[in-house]
Amino acid sequence: SEVILEATDLVKHYPIKAGVFRRTVGHVKALDGVSFQLYKGETLGVVGESGCGKSTLGRTLMRLEEPTSGSVLFDGVPMYEQQGSAMRKLRRDIQIVFQDPYTSLNPRMTVGDIIGEPFEIHPDVVPKERRRERVRELLSLVGLNPEHINRYPHQFSGGQRQRIGIARGVALNPKVIICDEPVSALDVSVQAQVVNLMEGLQEELGLAYVFIAHDLSVVRHISDRVAVMYLGKIVEIGDEDEIYSRPTHPYTQALLSAVPVPDPTLRTAREQIVLTGDVPSPANPPSGCRFHTRCWKAQEICSTTEPLLIMRPDGVGEHQSACHFAEPRAVV
Ligand code: SF4
Ligand code: MG
Repeated sequence: SEVILEATDLVKHYPIKAGVFRRTVGHVKALDGVSFQLYKGETLGVVGESGCGKSTLGRTLMRLEEPTSGSVLFDGVPMYEQQGSAMRKLRRDIQIVFQDPYTSLNPRMTVGDIIGEPFEIHPDVVPKERRRERVRELLSLVGLNPEHINRYPHQFSGGQRQRIGIARGVALNPKVIICDEPVSALDVSVQAQVVNLMEGLQEELGLAYVFIAHDLSVVRHISDRVAVMYLGKIVEIGDEDEIYSRPTHPYTQALLSAVPVPDPTLRTAREQIVLTGDVPSPANPPSGCRFHTRCWKAQEICSTTEPLLIMRPDGVGEHQSACHFAEPRAVV
């Protein structure tokens, strides 16, 4: 299938300032060489513990942050080289849905104005006299009552507010939506409805999603492929069923072993891998393989030589893993 977005060696370092003179004393390596492709119409899940760089990745892909180095090709166009109207055009095609439906909507604006705001920023997409009607259509599209166009965010539930955020996200007919923890602030019962809505819209509108989340079950449900991040790098990436049923990277194996098993009779069959030690500081990642300070399989080479993210002999499809000793481990 066709590639819509391609990131190559994305790096984002934040300076750490200290002292009265705010001197730079180091860098937080939030992204430290991230490369991947996103295909048209697919969902790529991005998982990892907090601080692994997944939210920075989302913001950098949106160009809410400029990368320290690296490139993103969006539909063949080098994104960070675009300025002015060319960049504005790109911004139509790539949208974001934020985590928190409580704070991401302006409480003083009606939903009609919130969803219609993108049309003010990009006035040539929908003619002025058609915009009200288009907002009503968008409200119906996300399962809200078009008659509620003049209500304010506080008059809606959390799930409904996230629907408003999604309506705004799809208003300009984007090709890609970056979803940054879109359901983690919602009640579990509401999460499934919002995820189902997003899947339906994907199908209907041909959207590709980068779905950033820490909930591995939600990511499994929605994703076609999954990328696992650790300390600013992708350590494993592949088809959802490959990653979840035969992970080859010890970090992925540990993450998955901690997911609750729905069927209690299987509980004893799943051996939980307990990681020792804290996540090291992204200002000072370990040498060689960044995971070696917590990895139960680590050998000498792991602290000296960085493993590349490549296909492994047992890998199926495009399943890639960054481990010198990658081997599939069945997860029940
Ligand atoms: Fe563990 Fe070594 Fe593989 Fe890193 S390269 S995940 S330390 S076995
Ligand atoms: Mg899908």
